[in-house]
Amino acid sequence: MAKYGKEVFHKYDMPHTIEKKGIAYAKTIEEAKRETKVVRETDVIVIGGGPGGIAAAVSAARGGAKTILIERYGHLGGMSTGGLVNIIPNLGSIYGEQLIGGFCQELIDNLAARGAACFPEKRFWGKSEASVVDKYLKANMMHFYIRKNENEEYVVLYTAVIDPEVAKDEMNTMVTNAGADLLLHTWVTEPIMDGNTVKGVIVETKSGRQALLGKVVIDCTGDGDMLPKTGTETTDYMIPGSRIAQFGWVYWVCNVDLKKYDNFISTEPEAYKKVTQEILSMGGSPLFCRGLLDHQEGVVWIHRLIGSLNQIEPEEMTYIDVTTRKKSVRNWELLKKYMPGFEKSFIMLSAPQLGTSGGRRIIGEYYLTEKDMDTDQPFEDTIAIFADNDRGAKSLDYPRTYVPYRALVPKDTEGLLVACRAFSADHDFSEFFNLIPHCMCFGQAAGSAAAIAVQDSVAVRNVNFQKLRNELLKYGAILP
Ligand SMILES: Cc1cc2nc3c(=O)[nH]c(=O)nc-3n(C[C@H](O)[C@H](O)[C@H](O)COP(=O)(O)OP(=O)(O)OC[C@H]3O[C@@H](n4cnc5c(N)ncnc54)[C@H](O)[C@@H]3O)c2cc1C
Repeated sequence: MAKYGKEVFHKYDMPHTIEKKGIAYAKTIEEAKRETKVVRETDVIVIGGGPGGIAAAVSAARGGAKTILIERYGHLGGMSTGGLVNIIPNLGSIYGEQLIGGFCQELIDNLAARGAACFPEKRFWGKSEASVVDKYLKANMMHFYIRKNENEEYVVLYTAVIDPEVAKDEMNTMVTNAGADLLLHTWVTEPIMDGNTVKGVIVETKSGRQALLGKVVIDCTGDGDMLPKTGTETTDYMIPGSRIAQFGWVYWVCNVDLKKYDNFISTEPEAYKKVTQEILSMGGSPLFCRGLLDHQEGVVWIHRLIGSLNQIEPEEMTYIDVTTRKKSVRNWELLKKYMPGFEKSFIMLSAPQLGTSGGRRIIGEYYLTEKDMDTDQPFEDTIAIFADNDRGAKSLDYPRTYVPYRALVPKDTEGLLVACRAFSADHDFSEFFNLIPHCMCFGQAAGSAAAIAVQDSVAVRNVNFQKLRNELLKYGAILP
C-alpha cells in the first residue's frame, strides 16, 4: 500500500470533453426591471445547508444572532447526506491525537447516541492493532482509516461514518434547537449589493422570486455561488486528474450476501479472479466499500469518480449524471449476474446530489498554499487545526495544519464570509483540506464570527479574535 492516501483507494480520472449545445455564451438579453418582495430581515443569512452551512447556522444562532439557513433541497447535510459521502475522515493525526472537535464532534456524538455513527475506539487511534486494521482493509476503507507511521506500520485513524438519513433528522434538530430558522426548497440566486457590501440575497422559490435582508451573509454553497456577483476575486484552478478535479457519483447496493461473497473469495480464489476479470472486461468494476454501521449489514457503497474541470456547468452535470447512471446500473447488473453474493441485491439509492469536489474559491485576506502545510507554526487567528494525513512522509513531519480566520474573509467585499470548500486556498491546499470535517470547522468559525460582528456592530474582518476564540473553545473546538 502506498503511503499517499490518494493512491491507496481511488483512481482519479482525467477530465473529459463534451460537446456543449448551449448558445448562451454568444448572446445576451436585457431583463426587465422588477420589484421583489422582502420576505425576511435578519442578522445572519447562511446559504447552503451542507457541512459548512449547518455548523455556521448553529454557531451564529448560539452566538445570539437572528439567523436563517437557506437550502435549495429538502434536506440538510449537503454532500455528507445527499451526496452519500457520509464518511468524516481525518479527525485525528497519524499519531492518534484528535485535532477536530467542536460542532463536528458534537454531531458525531449525537448520531452515535442514536446508533447512527461509528468510529474506531479511541485506544486504537494512531495504533497498529491488527484486528482493527484488518476490519477496515476488508471493508475497502483503508483510504479513510489506515495510514503508515514512521516505522512503516499500518495505524488506525480517527474517522467516523454516519447514517445519512438519521443525520438529516439530527441536523434539522440541531439547527432548530440552536434557534436558527430554516428555509428549505429555496434556491439562492444572487447577492443584494450596496457598493461592495452584501446586504442580503435574492432567492427563487415555487412562490416566485423573493428577497431576504441580512447584516452578514455566509456563503456555504460549496461552489461559492454568491461570489461572482459580489465582485470578490476568485479562482477555479484545478490540476487535471487531482482529487478535487472530479465529479462523484455514489450509489448503495443492498441485500448483498457478504458471507457468501467472502466464502467464494476464500474457497475459490481462481474462480473469483476469473469473475473479476470478466466484469472488468465488460466495462464494470468489482470494487466496493462495505457499510460499517451495525444496521447496514449487506449494504455496499460504490463510488464512481469522473474527471472534470468545471463542476458548475449544467450541461456538463447533465452529461455526467446520464452517462454515469447508465454505467453504474450496468455495473450492478454485472455484479448481480456474475458475482456470488449479489444475486438478490438491488440498488437501494443513488445519491440525490451529484458529487462535486472542486470549483470556485475566494482569494481572501489570507490565501492558504502548500507552504502552510509545510510548517508547524500556528497563526495568531487560528480557527482550526487539521490533521495532515495524506501527504506521505510530509504528513509525518507536519501532522498538524493550521487555518486562520482570514481564509474565510474576502478581500474587498464587506458583509460576507465564505465557510465551505470555496474558502481561500490554492489547488494544493484544497486537494487535502476541503472535506466534511474541514467545512464544519469553517462553518463554526464563520457563524460565531458573524454573531460577534452583529453584536459589536463591526465589519466581519474586524471581529475581535479573542472573543471568537473564546466562543469556539466554549463549543469544543480544538485550538492551539
Ligand atoms: C465523490 C466524492 C466523495 C467524497 N467523499 C468524502 C468523504 O468521504 N469524506 C469527506 O469528508 N468529504 C468527502 N468529499 C468532499 C465533501 O463531500 C465536500 O468537500 C464537502 O461536503 C463540502 O462541504 P460544503 O459545505 O462546502 O458543501 P456541500 O456539501 O456541497 O454543501 C453545500 C450545500 O449548499 C446547498 N446549495 C448549493 N448552492 C445553493 C444555492 N445556490 N442556494 C441554496 N442552497 C445551495 C447544497 O444543496 C448543499 O446542501 C467527497 C466529495 C466527492 C465528490
